[in-house]
Amino acid sequence: MGKLFGTFGVRGIANEKITPKFALKIGAAFGTVLKREGRENPTVVVGRDTRVSGVMLKNALISGLLSTGCNVIDVGVAPTPAIQWATDHFNADGGAVITASHNPPEYNGIKLLEPNGMGLKKEREAVVEEVFFKEDFERARWDEIGEVREERITKPYIEAIRARVDVEVIKKRRPFVVVDTSNGAGSLTLPYLLRELGCKVVSVNAHPDGHFPARNPEPNEENLREFMEIVKALGADFGVAQDGDADRAVFIDENGRFIQGDRTFALVADAVLRERGGGLLVTTVATSNLLDDVARRNNARVMRTKVGDLIVARALLEHNGTIGGEENGGVIFPDFVLGRDGAMTTAKIAEIFAKSGKRFSELIDELPRYYQIKTKRHVEGDRHAIVRRVAELAKTRGYTMDTTDGTKIIFPDGWVLVRASGTEPIIRIFSEAKSEEKAKEYLELGLKLLDEAVGSS
Ligand code: MG
Repeated sequence: MGKLFGTFGVRGIANEKITPKFALKIGAAFGTVLKREGRENPTVVVGRDTRVSGVMLKNALISGLLSTGCNVIDVGVAPTPAIQWATDHFNADGGAVITASHNPPEYNGIKLLEPNGMGLKKEREAVVEEVFFKEDFERARWDEIGEVREERITKPYIEAIRARVDVEVIKKRRPFVVVDTSNGAGSLTLPYLLRELGCKVVSVNAHPDGHFPARNPEPNEENLREFMEIVKALGADFGVAQDGDADRAVFIDENGRFIQGDRTFALVADAVLRERGGGLLVTTVATSNLLDDVARRNNARVMRTKVGDLIVARALLEHNGTIGGEENGGVIFPDFVLGRDGAMTTAKIAEIFAKSGKRFSELIDELPRYYQIKTKRHVEGDRHAIVRRVAELAKTRGYTMDTTDGTKIIFPDGWVLVRASGTEPIIRIFSEAKSEEKAKEYLELGLKLLDEAVGSS
C-alpha cells in the first residue's frame, strides 16, 4: 500500500502532484471512511488558504465528499486554526484544509481533521489511504448526494479569541503593532483581531494574494529582513509575521530584532502556566531548555515528543496538557484549538505585553539566555541508520541520551541533537548551551560522531 500522508497531510506542486483528480479522490476516500464508520449524514468543514490553486482543489475535494453522500460546510478562505476551530464549533464529523502552510506559491496540499479539529489520527489516516489507493469508494444514490452550505467564520473565530484574553488591559496600553500576513489567510483575521483588541495596527502584505508577491511565506529571519526594518522605522511596540495559513506567528521587537520562536513560546507558556498554577507543557526534543526553566518556576511538568505540530497536539490531547509548542513559533492552546494558532498566540502576547508595562525587548531579554547553533550535512545513503549509528557511538562513550527523535546527547548545561530530515537527504545538527563556547563544543561533538558514523556505515 502506498503512503499518502506526511507528518501532517499531503503536499506537492499544484497540478503536478496535487491535481483536481487527486483532491477529488481524497474527498471521496475521506467521505467513504466517514460513511463506513456509520456516521449519520456526515458533515465535513472545508476551507483553504489564499493559494492560486485553492479554489480549483477545494471544488474538486468537495465534489468527492458530496459523491459519497457527505454534506459540506464551505468556510472559504480562512487560517488553518480557524478551520480547525470551525470543525469543532459546528459539531462536524471532520474537516479538510487546502493549504501548503509556509511552502512557496506553486505548492498546495490537503490536511484532514478529526471532529475536534485536530489533524487526523494515524489509524484513520491509514484507512483513508487504503480506500484512496484501492479506489473503493462509496457512491451515494442520485437523490442522496450531499449538499453544500456556506458559512463565514472569520468574525466568530476572532470573537472566540477575543473572549480568551483581557481586552481591557490591552485597550488601556493600546500597543502599536505592525502586522505582516504574507498575503496569506491571516490577512483576513489578524489585523482585525488586533484592532478589536484595542491595538493600533499597521498591516503590510495584507491583501490576500496567492502569488505571495511580497515575500516567501516562511516567516524566518531571512525572509523578514524588510519587515524587521519596517517595524523599527515605524516606531512600533512590536511586529508580528505569519506564514501562508496563519498557524504560526513570529515576533519582531521594537528595535527590529527577530525573536526566536522558542522565546515567544516561553513567554506565552510562562503566562499560561502561571494562570493555571502549573500543569503539563508539551514540546519537542528540538526546543530550547528555556521551556524547562519556565515550567520549573511554575511547578509544571514537561513532556518532549518527536518533532511535528500534530505529534505535539496528539500528546496534549492524550495527556490533558496545558500548553504546547515548537521552536519555530507555533504555539498550541489545547482548550481552544488542537493545533498551532498564530492569532491566539498574538492575542496572548499582546495581553502579556500590555500587562507588563515593559518594552517588548525587555520581556524577551528577562528570559534565561541560551546559545543555539544549527547546521546541516548532506548525506548519501540511509540517513536514519546513520543517526542510529551516532546513538551507538555515543552510548559506547557513556553519554546521556534521548532517542525520542534522532539522537540527542544531553549535558548538565545543554545538548546536541543529530536528526535526519523527513524529506531531504540531510542530517541536521542542532546544539544549545548556556554559553556560546559550550554550544560550539557540543556542536563539534555532534559533527565528530556524525563523521564517524558516516565513515563506518
Ligand atoms: Mg503553517
